[in-house]
Amino acid sequence: MPLPQHLTIGLLSHNPGWEILLEQIGAIWEVIPAAAQITPARYSVVIIAHGAAINAALSQQLVAYVQEGGSLLEEGRKLSNSIPRAGQMKRERLGSGLLTRFPFRNGHILSLGMGVGRQITDTRAKRQLFAAPSAILPSEIVARQNKGKLRMLVHQLLSNLHSLRDLPFLTRWRFPNNAPTIFCYRIDSDHGTQPQIEQLHHLSQAYQLPLTWFLHTEAHQGWLGRFAQFEGDELGLHCHRHRTFKSYGENAENIRYALELLRQHGIAPRGFAAPNGFWNPGLAEVIARCQFLYSSEFSLGYDDLPFFPWLGWLGRFGTLQVPIHPVSPGNFRRVGATTAQMIEHYETMLQIKLRAAEPVIFYHHPTHEQWGVTEAIFASVRRHNIPAMTMSQYAEWWTRRSKASVSATIQNGVLTVATQSTDDGGDAPDDLQIGIEHRGQKGALIPANATVRLDDIQWESEVYPHPARQSVPNFNFKMLFHSVEDFLTRLRQ
Ligand SMILES: [Zn+2]
Repeated sequence: MPLPQHLTIGLLSHNPGWEILLEQIGAIWEVIPAAAQITPARYSVVIIAHGAAINAALSQQLVAYVQEGGSLLEEGRKLSNSIPRAGQMKRERLGSGLLTRFPFRNGHILSLGMGVGRQITDTRAKRQLFAAPSAILPSEIVARQNKGKLRMLVHQLLSNLHSLRDLPFLTRWRFPNNAPTIFCYRIDSDHGTQPQIEQLHHLSQAYQLPLTWFLHTEAHQGWLGRFAQFEGDELGLHCHRHRTFKSYGENAENIRYALELLRQHGIAPRGFAAPNGFWNPGLAEVIARCQFLYSSEFSLGYDDLPFFPWLGWLGRFGTLQVPIHPVSPGNFRRVGATTAQMIEHYETMLQIKLRAAEPVIFYHHPTHEQWGVTEAIFASVRRHNIPAMTMSQYAEWWTRRSKASVSATIQNGVLTVATQSTDDGGDAPDDLQIGIEHRGQKGALIPANATVRLDDIQWESEVYPHPARQSVPNFNFKMLFHSVEDFLTRLRQ
């Protein structure tokens, strides 16, 4: 009887960016312990990230791993450079040449010509244009790196590396139960008047969809208590003064003042979303100290799955980040888009998110009204039967998903999956399902503890990540104008 084949991805050494990606994807993975035997039966794929130290003995072990049939992913030419005559191996360039595949004896090495791990931990932001049906494209200051796209690329590579070994690729599913996606509607209450806010609340009640409010406390003094009556909605914190500061002290003062005001009305926010979507070290530390469950800032991440950001200066991961789609009706208003164009945009985005199995999280400001757009979004969510939740409900579920320790083996065509909670006290969600991909096809989700014959799984021909190929220019004249305008607005706040 052959040995059981483990479906575990081995990461050669700690690397924050890769760890973020593997957790987002929901892979079954571990950092390879120093004493471990690196064999094809033990690890379905091995990843060598930048910075991994490889001595001669380890290099020999890794070469043997590939020779004997293993699949190896390297950043740069960490291993392939050390293989004698690697240059003569049959090599195949994929895509724009950023990927090179070396079939080597019974296995494969895939070389990534870019530092993915480093790009994932990059915290810089810049103004970027977004694909949309309007004549002038909307723009927003968002994370410089499109981390969601990188994550999709890595997901596909890992799936392919398993396929090359004729092994299935398993992931912890991204949503409760077998939901194809989930919907959250985030409202930054910025200067919203009471009638505007009542109107939004009324609309959400009519569709029975919960809202996730991020309150600008300064703007609603005198009637903050009204929010506490919004049953089913989540009340998060935006700010008191509408500003995100660079320093820890100024952010702390602004946030603590707002928290105290909310506390007086019996409101204890679990979520935070910074003014203008800005994120910086000074802010991240306040968010962590105030023990928020999550925060949401598109200057750190957008159009992506949740992740625990790496706080490099502290050498640890921070508060869960829940990315959203960063284009609001307000961005559209600034470029003169019509209501019909906005509705078309959100319908397109919803379809893209469904195909990519990403959460549908849109956002809006009450002062921008455009109730028709919100209503069209709500109607579409209902039409597609997408489960709606608040952002804290999703953040809580995601946090528990990160506590689920899954192992899987395959032996004689029988797949065995076992799930337990990690040692640090968290409970894996009861409704966790396992996604399975094999030979470029996806199967129905399976329970987190299961024994199934691979042949008995029903396969569909489409895999999950489906990067939307939208080519967007880098610049339009409105961007410059909006940068100046935003700067002046911030000076006034
Ligand atoms: Zn705001």
